[in-house]
Amino acid sequence: MKKILITGAAGFLGSHLCDRFIAEGFDVVGMDNLITGDLNNISHLFPLSNFEFHHHDVTKFVHVSGKLDYILHFASPASPIDYLKIPIKTLKVGSLGTLNLLGLAKEKGARILVASTSEVYGDPLVHPQNEEYFGNVNPIGPRGVYDEAKRFMESITMAYHRHHGLDTRIVRIFNTYGSRMRLNDGRVVPAFMGQALRGEDLTVFGDGSQSRSFCYIDDQVEGIYRLLFSDYTDPVNIGNPHETTIKEFAEEIIALTGTKQKVIYKPLPQDDPTQRQPDITKAKEILGWEPKVHRAEGLKIVYDYFKSLSPEELQKKEH
Ligand code: NAD
Ligand code: UDP
Repeated sequence: MKKILITGAAGFLGSHLCDRFIAEGFDVVGMDNLITGDLNNISHLFPLSNFEFHHHDVTKFVHVSGKLDYILHFASPASPIDYLKIPIKTLKVGSLGTLNLLGLAKEKGARILVASTSEVYGDPLVHPQNEEYFGNVNPIGPRGVYDEAKRFMESITMAYHRHHGLDTRIVRIFNTYGSRMRLNDGRVVPAFMGQALRGEDLTVFGDGSQSRSFCYIDDQVEGIYRLLFSDYTDPVNIGNPHETTIKEFAEEIIALTGTKQKVIYKPLPQDDPTQRQPDITKAKEILGWEPKVHRAEGLKIVYDYFKSLSPEELQKKEH
């Protein structure tokens, strides 16, 4: 059996990746320090003999006994609220954490895939964003802690690839949503759905003209899975190119949830990108991948998920 280490396993993306690799018959080692994650996201895996969990901070030396075939490095705060609250830990997990996992991959002879982000393009001046674009990031702004950590992650990953011949993959993930997100993690999908569920007004930041393109979790996991087993070592965008402004998106959520609440406007956070849409030509050509789940369909699944949570679970999702 092939063995895979997944860091950030108790988080949103990490937990769905654990499910996928368990379903594919892998031995899965999940690792997380639970700083933004939730053990409930993976508690259903605990009884399985091919799953083990290590409560560990990957910025400290990482040890896994025995052989290891693959590493997926997904540990990192990922929502603006989280990484603004814990800026130094965000920088550390992208830098020291990545260094530790590259070292582990080298020692074990494992292939490693690291989770990068559309934020490496910053507030992009090229639209849609293709992988050749170098980006427009403010290194000293509040978002810089995340963007620069991920840019460093890419840089050191390519250095290990070139200098040590390490077998590496880099995925640039664009805004992804799905079940198990924390209702109060500040990202726009859970934020708007939580507001609709609690009967609060929907908070649009700025004038809502900024755009995003939302990818459903199952499509994202499929893209990552294909990239891991491809032989392509440069970064690949994985996301859904179906773009919307945030104002239109709030109206879409109002229509979906049937809430009687209205949109209210709040200040735009500093350096909030004005536009974002992935160019997925590479993913299509190299991985034969493209998203399948239409936004209306994916949002309905996620809203039904949040609605189905018990009041206690809902409350937990708000912390
Ligand atoms: P998340 O907050 O739900 O999950 C991140 C997980 O990493 C959490 O369980 C957290 O406890 C863990 N973690 C953080 N620091 C750690 C450390 N030092 N040691 C061990 N574990 C640690 O976020 P997510 O949306 O699942 O994001 C997962 C990864 O995907 C992140 O690397 C993020 O940058 C990347 N990403 C996500 C998106 C998205 O839209 N969801 C977009 C771009 C990139
Ligand atoms: N946003 C918003 N209201 C909220 C949360 C977010 O208008 O309650 C906006 C945010 O300013 C950004 C977009 O929605 O322009 C997407 O935000 P998110 O945090 O989900 O992702 P990111 O900014 O990292 O792409």
